[in-house]
Amino acid sequence: MKLKEFIDKHERLCVLTGAGISTESGIPDYRSAEVGLYARSNHRPVLYKEFCSSEAIRRRYWARNYVGWPRFFSLKPNITHNILKYLEDIGKVGCIVTQNVDNLHSKAGSKKVIELHGTAFKVMCLHCDHKIFRHKLQEVFQKLNPSMIATAQMIRPDGDVELSQEQVEGFNVPACNNCGGILKPDIVFFGDNVPHDKVQNVKANVENLDALLILGTTLSTFSAYRIVLQAIDAAKAIAIVNIGETRADKEVDLKIKGRCGDVLSKIWQLNASNNFIN
Ligand SMILES: [Zn+2]
Repeated sequence: MKLKEFIDKHERLCVLTGAGISTESGIPDYRSAEVGLYARSNHRPVLYKEFCSSEAIRRRYWARNYVGWPRFFSLKPNITHNILKYLEDIGKVGCIVTQNVDNLHSKAGSKKVIELHGTAFKVMCLHCDHKIFRHKLQEVFQKLNPSMIATAQMIRPDGDVELSQEQVEGFNVPACNNCGGILKPDIVFFGDNVPHDKVQNVKANVENLDALLILGTTLSTFSAYRIVLQAIDAAKAIAIVNIGETRADKEVDLKIKGRCGDVLSKIWQLNASNNFIN
């Protein structure tokens, strides 16, 4: 009821989302793994510097990414993404800033999405402006690595990918077909910065909207926490729904502990014609 009041009371919301809203789509929290922000090289995240400087690390990264891709590509939005799309349609949500790279807001049909940490669905060249869709690169990987078939059997229940040393070392990674440069997913890796124009865009949105609704994030990355600091500075109302504690619990007007899907679906339910009602 308190959350419903919060949403009713404010004209236009800026929504900040994180990994916690995608768990119900089957992406393990913090292990969005092979293709996500926390893509790991063995058991820790790949750092931006390492990725740029080591061919061996890139090879291992792309081999694992190749195997994990078909599953990641096919994940579907869940009730939280669908409710946010509905709230955008009725003019309640002015902007969704997501830390997720899984494209699920767009799959749900949301249009006003800012992908703070980029997207796993695009690949960029580190040397020229060339960008390609990730699924196109999958076809190139397949041609270059005919003996390695990406199958779900190679993914463990925890979302990790099991590859032998030989499989990794024998994996062929293509260069940019425009300039021969290094290809990197269009994701902000650890140790990399969110592009300046994106930071400015988020800032302007937070400034222009009435309140901030935070869903499924602990706010542990500074690029997300900075948005909360800006909202506090501007005396905007802030509400958080997250399963655990967050960095800003003590600084906000309303904190609800729970899974986003459970909490939001208590307010909005689908009616017979697939429209949300409250
Ligand atoms: Zn290039």
